[in-house]
Amino acid sequence: MSQVVLKVENLNKHFPTGKRNLLGKHTQTLKAVDGVSFEIKEGEIFGLVGESGCGKSTLGRCITRIVDPSNGTIHFNGEEITNSGPQRLKELRRQMQMVFQNPHSSLNPRMTIRQTFAEILKVHGLAKGKEQERMEEILSLVGLPVDALDRHPHEFSGGQLQRIVIARALLVEPEFIMADEPVSALDVSVQAQILNLLVTLKEELSLTMLFVAHDLSVVEHISDRVAVMYLGQIVEMADVDELYQNTLHPYTMALMAAIPVPDPSIKKEYEVIEGDLPSPIDLPVGCRFASRCPSAMTVCQEQNPSLKEVNPDHFVACHLY
Ligand code: SF4
Repeated sequence: MSQVVLKVENLNKHFPTGKRNLLGKHTQTLKAVDGVSFEIKEGEIFGLVGESGCGKSTLGRCITRIVDPSNGTIHFNGEEITNSGPQRLKELRRQMQMVFQNPHSSLNPRMTIRQTFAEILKVHGLAKGKEQERMEEILSLVGLPVDALDRHPHEFSGGQLQRIVIARALLVEPEFIMADEPVSALDVSVQAQILNLLVTLKEELSLTMLFVAHDLSVVEHISDRVAVMYLGQIVEMADVDELYQNTLHPYTMALMAAIPVPDPSIKKEYEVIEGDLPSPIDLPVGCRFASRCPSAMTVCQEQNPSLKEVNPDHFVACHLY
């Protein structure tokens, strides 16, 4: 059985907001991440999907400790890292690498790729005396020529830049990668190339990855398991085939209905999710999807459903099950 690399239990990230009271404290709370639990096993790609503002990127940033969670726990390779100090975090940065949405802002425009890579190897004390071999090896892994090393970021297309950002993450041989919408800023044709690259790298390197996206069609091709997030909570989680063939939660069904069909001869009626999205600073006591759910019942207004296992390894938070 594969080892658990990342374990998140009842994680919360709440931001105080709104007017301040007489004691200077904010009077409202934005619950960006609210009681999230899941595990990622070694060699697994875990897709995390949801609309903009659902808390998926904040969750990724909590896990990699870019922001501190409000409470809950994060274990990495069995070690609790929820409150790790600066020295331990520095070491963890090598083991937990990140790939962000916009490759243009991820690289220093004044440095050549060689300078960027050399600095990273130096900071982490890696490949001493063998820097050139390591850089060439990693560029070839992401499908770029060696002469890319002596060019600046502005000389590359968006897709090539994202390959470089992925190469930079792999340069330090991380155990875990958090990819936050890594293809969202790219053209559709380039998206497919980067996804194919990640699938290849997953097979060659047994990558363990949290892959954050707002589009179910994107995570389908790359993920082993998928969690769907809505207003700070996971509402459905299952193996990728189970989730796509046996979709249970009404919100996941709505996201499925929004997936475009890649054949112009097929006409598809896209369903818009109707109803108002609740304010994240004034969440309802019941199900957070109730105002938009075509199956809502009275109990949905009164109780927020918890995430339950309704089929083996298939978890759903919905009163229908
Ligand atoms: Fe819809 Fe009720 Fe299920 Fe929420 S709990 S998704 S409102 S049926």
